[in-house]
Amino acid sequence: PGTFSPEAARGDVPILHRTVNGQPLVWLDNAATTQKPRQVIEALTAYYSAANSNIHRGAHTMAREATEMYEAGRAAVASFLGAEGPETIAFVRGTTEAINLVAQSWGRANLGPGDDILVPVLEHHSDIVPWQLIAKETRARVVPVPLDAAGQIDQAAYADLLSYRTRLVAISHASNVLGTVPPVKEMTALAHRYDARVLVDGAQAVAHLPVDVQDLGADFYAFSGHKLFAPTGIGALYARPEVMAALKPWQGGGNMIESVSFDRTTFAPPPHLLEAGTGHISGVVGLLAALNWLTSFDRAAVTAYEDALMAYAEQAMATVPGLSLLGAAPDRIAVLTFTLAGHDPATVADWLDRDGIAVRAGHHCAQPALAHYGLESAARASLSLYNTSEEVDRLVSSLRGLQQAS
Ligand code: PMP
Repeated sequence: PGTFSPEAARGDVPILHRTVNGQPLVWLDNAATTQKPRQVIEALTAYYSAANSNIHRGAHTMAREATEMYEAGRAAVASFLGAEGPETIAFVRGTTEAINLVAQSWGRANLGPGDDILVPVLEHHSDIVPWQLIAKETRARVVPVPLDAAGQIDQAAYADLLSYRTRLVAISHASNVLGTVPPVKEMTALAHRYDARVLVDGAQAVAHLPVDVQDLGADFYAFSGHKLFAPTGIGALYARPEVMAALKPWQGGGNMIESVSFDRTTFAPPPHLLEAGTGHISGVVGLLAALNWLTSFDRAAVTAYEDALMAYAEQAMATVPGLSLLGAAPDRIAVLTFTLAGHDPATVADWLDRDGIAVRAGHHCAQPALAHYGLESAARASLSLYNTSEEVDRLVSSLRGLQQAS
């Protein structure tokens, strides 16, 4: 097995060396967004300093260069996801836009009265609300799949809910609240027996788990660049070749057409069909740099490091009086959502912030998941490859300090 040192990653990420409230920053809000290595920041500067151009039009050198970079980004995303080829990848703003695209493009064409969309209770709002919107218009139903006592998707209930009415199953590859990783491959295989499509929300998974969309059997896979060390405003949607080929336009404009007249407009082939208007070209440049950065590490060693750090954090946090962790499943990415007896989550986050430690408090855009635990809000520490056990120690010592102060 290879080796990985968090110091190698930390050295690349300038923001990790700033202070907050007089303390060295401890960034434990990685599930909300990740910090950017200088390789990404420098790629953006280089692009705007020497290469900025619109793409796909204008027969000049820089337009060609920008087009090549954009398409290199598409190929890199395809290979990162284990996809069949670049034509399976459409660029979008992020996971939210990818899911809305599928709801509006695929959903509008394929959903009708009496059809079911199965959505686990665990899902992020961005994997619930777009389905509710399109279900309302098409008179389909959004059917929640319950969680079991451990906070995992109830597989027996899932099998029961699946039927020939099921047109789509929408599941996260990893939960942003519990960190749990459901058996996506098995769930996908089961859905396919009923000829249902499966959308996998990879927002939380991509930075932590190697992804192979073909092995998962996903029909759609969505992620956001900003959770993967890339800039905000860029993300990708994968669709299996047959599924991609059948997608209809969802927004109209430049770039997505073949020819336009007032009598008849014809469209570019997918994925370009899905990318109306000028895309986030510098975002793709940054995403490409981020993928190159992440894949420069031995990913199996990174996963092993994160698992060990997660195990350390779980044990250390369990020693804080009154602290309860949500979700006990063994198979998890490094997300620790917790409550602290006697303190509301906002107070906890505020206290930690005074010590320079960034965690999120709130409903984490997953109100049904928190409601499963009888909660409206919780605090969340989420780890990334550049976090260290010393940072976990600072979190735990600050939490102990809060308990002692009250
Ligand atoms: N799904 C999951 C599981 C997420 O964690 C997030 C981001 N918190 C999203 C979707 C939405 O991602 P974005 O806001 O980047 O579109």
